[in-house]
Amino acid sequence: MVVVLLVSLLVGMLPAKAAESDGDQAGQEVYQQLSAGKRVKSEGTYETPEQPTVYLTFDDGPSKLTNQVLDILDKEGIKATFFVLGEQAKAHPAELKRIVKDGHAVGNHTYNHVYKELYGDFQTFWDQIQRSENIISDIAGIRPQLVRAPGGTATNFDAYYYYLMDQAGYIMEDWNVDSGDSSRANVPVNEIWQTVKASPLEHEINILFHDGTGHASSVEVLPQVISYYKKLGYAFATLTPQVKPKQFGVTKTKWSRSMSLKQFQGLLNQTQQYATAHPSPAEIAKREAEELEAQKAQTEAEAKAKADEEAARIQAQEDALPLQIKVFGSNALTIEPSAYKLRANRIELSLRYLIEKMGGNVEWQAASKTAVAHYGIYDMYYDLTDRRISLFTLGKQTAAYSLADMTMQDSQIIVPLRKTIDSLGGRITDAVMSRDSRQITMALRPLYFFKENDAILQNSLFAMGW
Ligand SMILES: [Zn+2]
Repeated sequence: MVVVLLVSLLVGMLPAKAAESDGDQAGQEVYQQLSAGKRVKSEGTYETPEQPTVYLTFDDGPSKLTNQVLDILDKEGIKATFFVLGEQAKAHPAELKRIVKDGHAVGNHTYNHVYKELYGDFQTFWDQIQRSENIISDIAGIRPQLVRAPGGTATNFDAYYYYLMDQAGYIMEDWNVDSGDSSRANVPVNEIWQTVKASPLEHEINILFHDGTGHASSVEVLPQVISYYKKLGYAFATLTPQVKPKQFGVTKTKWSRSMSLKQFQGLLNQTQQYATAHPSPAEIAKREAEELEAQKAQTEAEAKAKADEEAARIQAQEDALPLQIKVFGSNALTIEPSAYKLRANRIELSLRYLIEKMGGNVEWQAASKTAVAHYGIYDMYYDLTDRRISLFTLGKQTAAYSLADMTMQDSQIIVPLRKTIDSLGGRITDAVMSRDSRQITMALRPLYFFKENDAILQNSLFAMGW
């Protein structure tokens, strides 16, 4: 239904609140860009309406004329935006209340509209915005985010004005169609009408009217203007922070102003303090979303830490288990937790340790990189170079095995248990690997003769990886 526009950062990649977060240096960078007349904008997301839309705007009120404007809008069933002066709002509170009650938007148009004060220095402009806002808030209970600069921003605003208002969270609204109703005193109805008709028909029209004292012609021409745009298929809507604002941008100002870094930092401080104290609805939503995101991330991190801790605890507990080896017809061997490793369902341990536990002995022949294990009537030659085991029974070679997994660690030959038992002609007949206990049962020749036809046992043992 809507097209989302993204206005990206204009100059450089300066974050909107650089001065606040990064201290003086970032503030100086922004200051230098602004001094050079370059705007520094924060990011905004806008929605373009599908239907061509007119945003009627009325400045300088409320006045005695405002009720007439509201009656017309009510009759036409359309909404508009009123940029009110604090001074006028104070004089016509009922009209301001009605604007809000009727569902129109209210913008801030400063307190007294006196150009010389407003554009003499930013501090005065700012003070008037605050003064006017407090009056509007007291009367109507709202704090307008939209601001229209008296006379428009062109030739009045510089990059500092734009930046500081932006930092406070305000949205500056100029216009793209001027009805000409304030080009001089008492502009005739027909002249306004001709001006409106001659203006370009953009997709979104932000049209400037006045409902201040002395603008009876504007009220008079209004029904005709509304009818004109309606016939052209335009919808009418209030300005909102989601509507991309029409802004004239930085032009050469007709005011001679100066801004020292210190003044700038002081003003920036004021505007940012305001933003913190009065976040816009979009800012509130953003903060809430960020907070929610942070909470979610924290919850996830906590859950992960807990799971990791639990896994580590179980692992540590399991790693502390001794391995019990029951040998058929012999005493059980206990392999100390530090003497073996359980890796992917496979037990690895030092060959010397195993053979010695079983009552045999191992000699290391460094020259040939061969370990010779003697166990009963067996002699096993572990050749580390070609990773082979040769088994001798009563001095006669009876078998040869390739043991690809044989490794050397800290001057020890590490072998996989099952393959080693197999090479000794034995069999692992049972294995229990649980959280509380690690036990394997094995039989060694000649005490145990593996039954050739006991295929089920054999297959299940191999399936277990032993
Ligand atoms: Zn004005």
